Amino acid sequence: MGMNRRDFLKSSAAAAAASAVGITVPSEVQAAAAKGEEGWRWDKAVCRFCGTGCGIMVATKGGKIVAVKGDPAAPVNRGLNCIKGYFTAKIMYGADRLKVPLLRMNDKGEFDKKGKFRPVSWKRAFDEMEKHIRRALKESGPEGVAVFGSGQYTIMEGYAAQKMMKAGFRSNAIDPNARHCMASAVVGFYQTFGIDEPSGCYDDIELTDTIISWGSNMAEMHPILWSRVSDRKLSDPERVKVVNIQTYTHRSCDLSDFNIIFRPQTDVALWNYVAREIVYNHPEAIDWDFVKQHIVFAVGPVNIGYGMRRKGEKSLTPVRPDGSAGKYSAKEMEIVRKEMAKKVSEFEGPALEPYGYKAGDEMKNTPGTLKHWMISFEEYKKSLEPFTLDYVAKLAKGDPDEDLESFKKKLKMLADLYIEKDRKVVSFWTMGMNQHTRGSWDNTLSYNVHFLLNKQAKPGNGAYSLTGQPSACGTAREVGTFAHRLPADLMVKNPKHRKIAEKIWHIPEGTLNPVGNQHIMKIHRDIEDGVVKFAWANVCNPYQDSANARHWIKAAREMDNFIVTSDGYPGISAMVSDLVLPSAMIYEKWGAYGNAERRTQHWRQQVLPVGHAMSDTWQWVELSKRFTVNDLWGPYTLRNGKKLPDVRKAAEKMGYKPDTTMYEILYANERAKKQYPIDLNKFPQKGFDNSECLGDKRNVVGSDGKVFKGYGFMLHQYLWEEYASFGRGHGHDLADFVTYHKVRGLKWPVVNGKETFWRFNVKYDPYAAKHAKEAGLKDFAFYGPLAKKLPSGDLRGVKDKKKKSLANKAKIFARPYMDPPEMPDKEYDTWLCTGRVLEHWHSGTMTMRVPELFRAVPEALCYMNPKDAKKRGLKNGDLVWVESRRGKVKVRVETRGRNRPPRGLVFVPWFDERVLINKVTLDATCPMSKQTDYKKCAVKIYKA
Ligand code: SF4
Repeated sequence: MGMNRRDFLKSSAAAAAASAVGITVPSEVQAAAAKGEEGWRWDKAVCRFCGTGCGIMVATKGGKIVAVKGDPAAPVNRGLNCIKGYFTAKIMYGADRLKVPLLRMNDKGEFDKKGKFRPVSWKRAFDEMEKHIRRALKESGPEGVAVFGSGQYTIMEGYAAQKMMKAGFRSNAIDPNARHCMASAVVGFYQTFGIDEPSGCYDDIELTDTIISWGSNMAEMHPILWSRVSDRKLSDPERVKVVNIQTYTHRSCDLSDFNIIFRPQTDVALWNYVAREIVYNHPEAIDWDFVKQHIVFAVGPVNIGYGMRRKGEKSLTPVRPDGSAGKYSAKEMEIVRKEMAKKVSEFEGPALEPYGYKAGDEMKNTPGTLKHWMISFEEYKKSLEPFTLDYVAKLAKGDPDEDLESFKKKLKMLADLYIEKDRKVVSFWTMGMNQHTRGSWDNTLSYNVHFLLNKQAKPGNGAYSLTGQPSACGTAREVGTFAHRLPADLMVKNPKHRKIAEKIWHIPEGTLNPVGNQHIMKIHRDIEDGVVKFAWANVCNPYQDSANARHWIKAAREMDNFIVTSDGYPGISAMVSDLVLPSAMIYEKWGAYGNAERRTQHWRQQVLPVGHAMSDTWQWVELSKRFTVNDLWGPYTLRNGKKLPDVRKAAEKMGYKPDTTMYEILYANERAKKQYPIDLNKFPQKGFDNSECLGDKRNVVGSDGKVFKGYGFMLHQYLWEEYASFGRGHGHDLADFVTYHKVRGLKWPVVNGKETFWRFNVKYDPYAAKHAKEAGLKDFAFYGPLAKKLPSGDLRGVKDKKKKSLANKAKIFARPYMDPPEMPDKEYDTWLCTGRVLEHWHSGTMTMRVPELFRAVPEALCYMNPKDAKKRGLKNGDLVWVESRRGKVKVRVETRGRNRPPRGLVFVPWFDERVLINKVTLDATCPMSKQTDYKKCAVKIYKA
């Protein structure tokens, strides 16, 4: 059969799609597709984008990617992809891809912060980085060197970065953009289970009867999971119920049996209402056997502020008579001041009454804390008392045009679905619950309802936090690239945990810094305060994605510092930087991601990077060659007065010399070279490029000015195996490097070669079985080790300081409703919510360069209720200013689009750098998790 390119593509696509949905393809079409694919090498890989973690098949020919399709063997997506997934390879070939390092220079060729970008060699780039890091260490110590990390780092990149930062520079100022998307979920997991990540897996979708989505637009943000939800719903429309709970109507709502539109922040009250229904009105639904055996009740302080800047910080001084303070205007300070103290509102009064506050009281805030203590069930019950249907309906009704009685009816229906005996329920959520000034509370509240009913950690039952980024779980959380963490749930502040890491890393005891408080917003604030002098953005775009961006961009450009961005494209962060490094992109390097169901997936390098781009792993390893024991392991005094000891003598005892480089200690050590040799005749290395380990035919001139010939050992395998050794035997077990190249991912813990589907349940989780046996339990063991000894008291405080063990128990928390720090008022009369759209990934740096995706959604729009538009004299398509106390942006109004807000709320996505909506948003965070609340601030809108 004759076949042109178009016919062939059609056949190929048809064959792939047909096999994905289980249709038999005519042999003629199959043969034509096979002929057209002659000489193609297909290999499995992973989608670059969301936390769903779809499997991708990548075809290469002659060193070029020629096709991409969904992987039919991948259990996550079974051959399907969403529109972003289908274009995942095209993101590497935008016209303005960065190909060489760029440095701001003057005409004499010197670095000049006010200079223009000019191409430089890798050697010059590293010379400048080295110089500025040395200066930062000298002037500010380890706290002066910072890294904006990523939930999109490959596991090996994140591990390499964290090793050099924490073991080399002794700085914990590395924090991933996952802080912005998952940190509240993590606090929820730690506080409730004592260990991170979901108990369930995606199979829950096919096994449940009820999908309740809270603050999540899965149809656009997790499209393949939503296709599984739709499939489940359509397979049994009568039995299977779908409910969406959110602040505006969006695409996910089309499938729902009913939708609940709530006033921003009041989801906390909704959870408490459902729990109250159970406890007060349906006590027979409580599984007391389960609760008595496996649960304790707990509470923490409520006066924890909003994670904003606090009085006395350098950029908030001096305080002036006009109300302004330091670098913050009087208008900004109207909100920032609430960090120190706030007035309890009429809304909050009833909810806070059991905790000792009433409407009108002044609440003096202390900095956010993770402290909590045990309480009795009776105290927990007291905390729920205010959350009656009447109170919650009035507080939470989000659509002013909805009738209160109809809203109440829906709340009752929601509670009934949870409570119904033998009905399986999965609660999913994403950013709506995490990006929240009470996000950690909100997360813990979700488990309360499931625990009371014994509907958690069972097939088809459970509260389930979905991840936004492709490796927010795998890299940010499991590798521990957060300021306060180490791999496998170890914490920098815990001396025993530091010792474990020091042993595995073969570094002297006492090297690791115990102070881990420089989360992303703190890094920005420390740059503004002049403490951080060197900052490096890896695989992220912090100057577009951080709230209140105007402050941070100004600080980066105007303070005495050196900012570096490694990226594939010149996004906003690159433009704000002093040095830009060209990074290899997804299929130009070996890598691994971990998705939202604990599934770890590896891929191999498919093609050589474009230009002189090199991977972020390579960049970290090259930087490590510039610093020795003598340079980094002397004594330091931190800001809080804590001393980091001089460990050079101890290093000598370990066989290191003063001039031994970090490269020789952390990466190219004897263990790595001996155990992980290059063997191009063996799987998985055979037939694949490996630019870091072997160099490649581009002959990139490296950091020493010579052609880079490769490290000569399997760096990725070494990094993987060393990282995996942290978790093996401790409930985080990962398989070996080679195994992952044979399978379509495995859900950890992987014990005796088998993945784990439902954690904490003795039937499915070998760790639960082991702990349950030891403790004489039958069905469950919540064995997570963190926060498992608590004092006790009541809702108002600790009454007995003696700590009791709660081994193998999970927690139900009492949490009140509290207002966000900024709400609409007379001048700023509208809620602003920001988020993503299906077609674009995060800041749009990659997807805006794919013509098909760009054409589909070329600009960010301000989605507005038509009545609000009319009130302001606006028509669809008009340009408006969206203005807050912090800044304003010009954007086009959309009143008929896919997002349909109620009156009083607008949604503006953040993918479009021309509509830099984060100039408008507020950098308030959950004070416990430090995750920014992007979902609510107050704006005014007027014609531009
Ligand atoms: S963007 Fe997400 S849902 Fe779409 S293909 Fe990629 S991983 Fe799957």
